[in-house]
Amino acid sequence: MSFDFDLFVIGAGSGGVRAARFAAGFGARVAVAESRYLGGTCVNVGCVPKKLLVYGAHFHEDFEQASGFGWTVDAPKFDWPTLIANKNREIQRLNGIYRNLLVNSGVTLLEGHARLCDAHTVEINGQRFSAANILLATGGWPQVPDIPGKEHAITSNEAFFLPALPRRVLVVGGGYIAVEFASIFHGLGAQTTQLYRGDLFLRGFDQSVREHLRDELQKKGLHLQFNANVIRIDKRADGSLAAMLQDGRVLETDCVFYATGRRPMLDNLGLENTAVELDRHGFIKVDEAYRSTEPSIRAIGDVIGRVQLTPVALAEGMAVARHLFRPAEYRPLDYKLIPTAVFSLPNIGTVGLTEAEAISQGHRIKVFESRFRPLKLTLTEAQDKTLMKLIVDADSDKVLGCHMVGPDAGEILQGIAVALKAGATKAVFDDTIGIHPTAAEEFVTLRTPVAR
Ligand code: FAD
Ligand code: NDP
Repeated sequence: MSFDFDLFVIGAGSGGVRAARFAAGFGARVAVAESRYLGGTCVNVGCVPKKLLVYGAHFHEDFEQASGFGWTVDAPKFDWPTLIANKNREIQRLNGIYRNLLVNSGVTLLEGHARLCDAHTVEINGQRFSAANILLATGGWPQVPDIPGKEHAITSNEAFFLPALPRRVLVVGGGYIAVEFASIFHGLGAQTTQLYRGDLFLRGFDQSVREHLRDELQKKGLHLQFNANVIRIDKRADGSLAAMLQDGRVLETDCVFYATGRRPMLDNLGLENTAVELDRHGFIKVDEAYRSTEPSIRAIGDVIGRVQLTPVALAEGMAVARHLFRPAEYRPLDYKLIPTAVFSLPNIGTVGLTEAEAISQGHRIKVFESRFRPLKLTLTEAQDKTLMKLIVDADSDKVLGCHMVGPDAGEILQGIAVALKAGATKAVFDDTIGIHPTAAEEFVTLRTPVAR
């Protein structure tokens, strides 16, 4: 049977674009469908605009600290519409780059909502296309719990386009997005409260990291409330919001921002016309080569809910392209030692096992930890502390995990991730000459394990 395309990709986000470009580069006839924005979540309402807002929020501290270095900065003023307009212009530029990347690599770009008609047919804008293989790379969407008044809440999707910076913000959630946006709102000048339902936010991260970040954020004046949750939101006549908590307290605010996880984007995708099955969390079920339960249909990225990070979606996209069109070059993706950063202020950077994971996996461990006030702050009033932590297997000397809270933690941990991937031992860290004076050199000068 002959098909219109060798591969039809649904979704031109991180994973879809990468798979489409690689497949076309391997000589396949490829189409990609996109309903909303080229580049997907990361480029439009995720990593990139988020990081730009984090940079914007950081200036707050820079201005405060500048006087210690002899600078006089007259009462700095912040203008939200300027930041958002500049951010929008940059995203538009990136959208154009994504368009060129696709078109120049020979991919047929189809703009509109795509729907599966059967295992080999996709309908878009009233037209049907057949494909030997279909790749679902439709990403995710914010999920807000079903409470009365949820329509008054916003999510990250809307936060990037607010007409004005709210005077007061209530952030609900304790994951990546909640922590990052709490720092953004607070840094830009909103009175910010973050509410998390458990004892301490960032479940799954190393305990020292979670506690250190909590202490640093509180020092900066961000209000954190743990073991708290919203049960209803009411809008007042003056436009302000009242969030009622489960303990009966009512918090007055101007914006309730929800970041309570993301669901797979499967809306009107036509899965019912195929044999594609979902896993118990509602994500698309795939095997180790990203094949769904329908042999001609594969899925990658946030829609499979494995690791919701852009570099992972990119790697999965490349893996699918290779598996289909360059099988000799295919290597399964290694999900161990994926480094990650949380772009709160201060940043978290992490790779490998947490202390609790190392112990529960049966390792006998040594823990090395350092807390210090960065050199840059010594001429200022700021009392921020950086945390660095290494978890080492006491028997093999292998470094199992590396964690940091402090400026540029994401930048520093990328290099450390290479070392861990190469199987570095603590002796290798010790033998490495530091770069002086940096914060990063602390990772190669930690000598005495902490007593536990
Ligand atoms: P997406 O990038 O979401 O792309 C899916 C695309 O499919 C979208 O463009 C969508 O419009 C399209 N689509 C959906 N359904 C259809 C259809 N039926 N027809 C046609 N098109 C369709 N990750 C990091 O690594 N670092 C970060 O700093 C980071 N920050 C983030 C901040 C926020 C606020 C958010 C929300 C996410 C962040 N992420 C970050 C996660 C990252 O954005 C995602 O993991 C990544 O974008 C997933 O890529 P994807 O290809 O699976 O899906
Ligand atoms: P996460 O899964 O990281 O966090 C969700 C948070 O919401 C958790 O604290 C969770 O609590 C809480 N929660 C879930 N349901 C409820 C509820 N019904 N009521 C109250 N609280 C609730 O999701 P995010 O939305 O923050 O981000 C989605 C994903 O996007 C991340 O996991 C990450 O993979 C990716 N991302 C990556 C970034 C980066 O690399 N820097 C930045 C932003 C996003 P509990 O822990 O108790 O379950």
